[in-house]
Amino acid sequence: PAAPTARRAPVRRIIGVETEYGITCASTAGGPPPLDADHAARELFAPLIARGRSSNVFTRGGARLYLDVGSHPEFATAECDSLTDLLAQDRAGELTMADLAAQANARLAAQDVPGRIHLLKNNLDAEGAGFGCHENYLVRRRGDYWNDARTLVPHLVTRQILVGAGHILTDPAGKRPARYVFSQRADQMEDAVSSATTRSRPLINTRDEPHADAEKYRRMHVIVGDSNIAQGSTLLKVGAMDLLLDYLEGGGDLSDLRLANPMRAIRDTCHDLTGTVLLELADGRTITPVELQSEHLERVRAHVDAELDLTDAHRCVLELWERGLEAVRTGNPALVATELDWAAKQQLLTRYAQRAGTGLDDPRVARLALAYHDVDPTDGLRLRLETAGLLKRIVDEPACRAAVDTPPATTRAHLRGTAVARAEELRRDLSVDWVNLKLDDGHTRPVALRDPFAAVDARVDALLAAMDEPEPPRSGILVTSP
Ligand code: ATP
Ligand code: MG
Ligand code: MG
Repeated sequence: PAAPTARRAPVRRIIGVETEYGITCASTAGGPPPLDADHAARELFAPLIARGRSSNVFTRGGARLYLDVGSHPEFATAECDSLTDLLAQDRAGELTMADLAAQANARLAAQDVPGRIHLLKNNLDAEGAGFGCHENYLVRRRGDYWNDARTLVPHLVTRQILVGAGHILTDPAGKRPARYVFSQRADQMEDAVSSATTRSRPLINTRDEPHADAEKYRRMHVIVGDSNIAQGSTLLKVGAMDLLLDYLEGGGDLSDLRLANPMRAIRDTCHDLTGTVLLELADGRTITPVELQSEHLERVRAHVDAELDLTDAHRCVLELWERGLEAVRTGNPALVATELDWAAKQQLLTRYAQRAGTGLDDPRVARLALAYHDVDPTDGLRLRLETAGLLKRIVDEPACRAAVDTPPATTRAHLRGTAVARAEELRRDLSVDWVNLKLDDGHTRPVALRDPFAAVDARVDALLAAMDEPEPPRSGILVTSP
């Protein structure tokens, strides 16, 4: 027998998730909504703007909280190098949004405005416009990056049978009954095609902005994916990609599984809950979404068995990947109903519809579907489902709450979060982005954190020390007594 080879941990990787939230203001007096989405978003960010800051801030937790055009508040998690940190950070985003909404609602009530702001972690607003959830993965810069990215397209197209958030698809013409499908995003992906430069890489943003040393790294920016509520879905979504990237970077190959028409395949996959629809491969063969995912899983498993020593979270990813496929293959969502969004939501909605004796078209079912994505602790269903054991928590609530103010300890985010906290305490002006920290005192040197893996940096220690010094007088302003 061959001598046992030395095993290694999966290659350390920076991962971050950006989530755009839907915002609505429901009337509490039965009339029309007192604020449209635009005004509701501005009300939400009012305290941040009032504190002399913009609607684009970095938090003590190392994350970015901002309001872009289009009135979708966004939370971009700090850089994480562990899957459990990422789950905590992602939930910290929901908690941050829920806190902002609670404050805004208290202000509205104090002004007798009959409205209540809701923030929804989903991907489709009431007018049918879509918004996103982006994943960012650090990859080593090498010649065949786009080759890797292209071979990941079939995974991105078919992973929705595991990590889609579930969606009720209604027929606008009202001719066909509403039906349950895997994802809200699949039908929106035409947009992504037109903004990409070639058809072969529509699901991954082509912009080359690594937020790191550009000679060493790229940031793979995945723009197709549902916002997830279930921690199991987020774990599987991000963890499967992490392992696939490890497989490809270790010389693995998925290129024999390229799809002939990814955009058509993404819709066909979305609309078929049995996972058996035939997708055409580039070489003319056909394959089902379940088969394609099983093939990916098998290759990753072989790679893991040969080389890797997994963390508990990664082991959980493989087990859930397998069980998720089994659930689709056997038509038994109960197998994953406490872990994966599409199954949890389907059980919730179909049981409700059965009890109420309605179809999925019923407006009460639509309201329940929205409540699944509402981040409000009382109006939203997450806490109730988790407390009742109907949704499984992987990282507990106190750890997620802590992540609101505490950055991941092992990445650059630790340096950023520490600097932001100190600046807030000492009321110093600090300009921040993913890479840069600059104390706006006119003389302290700015710091560029080009290594996202580094959580210790003497230059940041110096910056923190500079903040402790008394602020020099503002240039040009002389205060004189009369
Ligand atoms: P925008 O969304 O405004 O177009 P963007 O794509 O640069 O800009 P941000 O919303 O600022 O995105 O979020 C960037 C995300 O990338 C964050 O979640 C962050 O943690 C992550 N990130 C930052 N640096 C890296 C890196 N070097 N590799 C991978 N992910 C990173
Ligand atoms: Mg963003
Ligand atoms: Mg982005």
